[in-house]
Amino acid sequence: MSRVSFNKPHLTGKELHYISEAHALGQLSGDGPFTKRCNAWLEQHTGCREALLTHSCTAALEMAAILADIQPGDEIIMPSYTFSSTANAFVLRGGVPVFIDIRPDTLNIDETKIEAAITSRTKAIVPVHYAGVSCEMDAIMAIADKHDLLVIEDAAQGVGSEYKGKPLGSIGHLGCLSFHETKNIIAGEGGALLINDARFIERAEVIREKGTNRSRFFRGEIDKYTWVDIGSSYLPGEIVAAFLWAQMEDAKGITDRRLAIWETYHSGLSGLEHDGALRLPFIPADCTHNAHMFYVLFADLDERTRAIEFLKRHEITAVFHYIPLHSAPAGVRFGRAPGDMSVTNDASDRLLRLPLYYDMSEADPRRVIETLVTFSRS
Ligand SMILES: *Cc1c(COP(=O)(O)O)cnc(C)c1O
Repeated sequence: MSRVSFNKPHLTGKELHYISEAHALGQLSGDGPFTKRCNAWLEQHTGCREALLTHSCTAALEMAAILADIQPGDEIIMPSYTFSSTANAFVLRGGVPVFIDIRPDTLNIDETKIEAAITSRTKAIVPVHYAGVSCEMDAIMAIADKHDLLVIEDAAQGVGSEYKGKPLGSIGHLGCLSFHETKNIIAGEGGALLINDARFIERAEVIREKGTNRSRFFRGEIDKYTWVDIGSSYLPGEIVAAFLWAQMEDAKGITDRRLAIWETYHSGLSGLEHDGALRLPFIPADCTHNAHMFYVLFADLDERTRAIEFLKRHEITAVFHYIPLHSAPAGVRFGRAPGDMSVTNDASDRLLRLPLYYDMSEADPRRVIETLVTFSRS
């Protein structure tokens, strides 16, 4: 019996071809022809005003924190059930992450708890689209509008997903995407900043190019470039962009394959959900998703621990997810959680992610389902 790994990075087959083409074109540093193609693809597929490839979603979040002009003591409202980068990007500017609880159905930020957390120091709301399923963006945008706050979407997991027909990352003022090898469309390490509010475009280009106006220089708008603002090196090299281009060309095929595996899990495990053995993911009617993840929720921590062990004995790797940031050492030090966090704590104890990757065999998800059925009877 072969082992079912949790994840394996998928190759479309054209990656090395485009990498050698990038070399033949004579530019391996950033913002060459492949980066431009990837940016254009993102603009076409999301409808954002401008897309800027970055070396990670973490980099895009850091750019967003600079663009939001976060000052020491400014507060940023976000879920606690997320990756460290969501908070870290703002802490690097002296900001204070204010963690609030998630919804029990989608495990996304609970939009009904945002307003109570707003203070005179609040600058931005950062919705995280967990598992590539959208947050309640209409409600979040209305709150931001009412209190004059920025919305920065952490759409790291949401490439190819939509909310009411709008691609994730294109709804807030800024959106951040990831092409890390654990995501759907990959470049090893990679990301993008989507700019939906045009007033941020010029400064974003400067921040990404070490604080210089190099982008304007290359467009012939100025005759020399110089240091004009703070910034860093946030752009990827052309090798990464060439790899990513191969993936973008096949983005629909990748999403469709993942959705087929997701559906296999969903229908194969619905009997267990019906029996109350576990709970399956919930997709709101106005969301389409990208099958970034398939998770199940067990009754409690003890049962999840036993499930992980059981699957492991049957050569299947399944893994839990975030330690809530409000309870992590750095979260305690740099952030605060003003309200009840019981849904977050509960999900963190009970959630298990199942293997889901493009190159799984047809038999793999079936075996995972059968093993979970056997476990529930044990
Ligand atoms: C993966 C991920 C990130 C970080 O993405 P990188 O490209 O690895 O920097 C940030 N936020 C969330 C929610 C993620 O899933």
